[in-house]
Amino acid sequence: MKFIIATNNPDKLVELERILKPLGIDAVSPKQANISLGDVEETGETFLENSFIKAQAACKKTGLPAIADDSGICVDYLDGAPGIYSARFAGEDATDEDKNNLILEKLKDTDDRGAHYTAAITCVFPNGDKLQVEGKCFGEIAREPDGDGGFGYDPIFLFEGKSFGNFTAEEKDKVSHRGNALRMMREELIKYLEGNNVNQ
Ligand code: IMP
Repeated sequence: MKFIIATNNPDKLVELERILKPLGIDAVSPKQANISLGDVEETGETFLENSFIKAQAACKKTGLPAIADDSGICVDYLDGAPGIYSARFAGEDATDEDKNNLILEKLKDTDDRGAHYTAAITCVFPNGDKLQVEGKCFGEIAREPDGDGGFGYDPIFLFEGKSFGNFTAEEKDKVSHRGNALRMMREELIKYLEGNNVNQ
């Protein structure tokens, strides 16, 4: 079964394609499908709501089942911020480095470093059916950025003491919020496709 990956974020696209491929899912990017998703306003109040909004928009536009991710980092000391605002936390034009520095600045005087990533994944089918899962990855905010692997907040996110910026792609997928969510989604999809007699 062919799925459209509903994201304009090239970093997420790479991770989603990388994780979905071995699951036997034929995922096509908007570019491969020759369509532009445009900017979908993320008006939801949760990761799950926003991933649904993005998947539904792509499904409506293409007529294909669509899969979307909404994700972000939640910092304990900041009462869960930036959360669903992770992409825009430091302003529209802020770079990843700006966003990381802002978090480090806000946490500079505290030892309360707990944080987690969340990834909500929604699949929407042309008949209106939807599947939703949420994966998490718990760790800590580092004292300074380390490593240039991954993207976004990875250089300041420590998993079991090691920066995600120093993880290989495979190491990150095994433990990441997105990897965890996609493994759950795989199980949901297998049940759904079997239940609906759909050939994969
Ligand atoms: P959105 O889901 O497109 O609204 O944005 C998610 C934002 O959360 C990204 O732009 C990153 O800043 C951050 N983010 C989500 N997942 C990751 C990850 O795996 N590593 C680092 N940053 C992430």
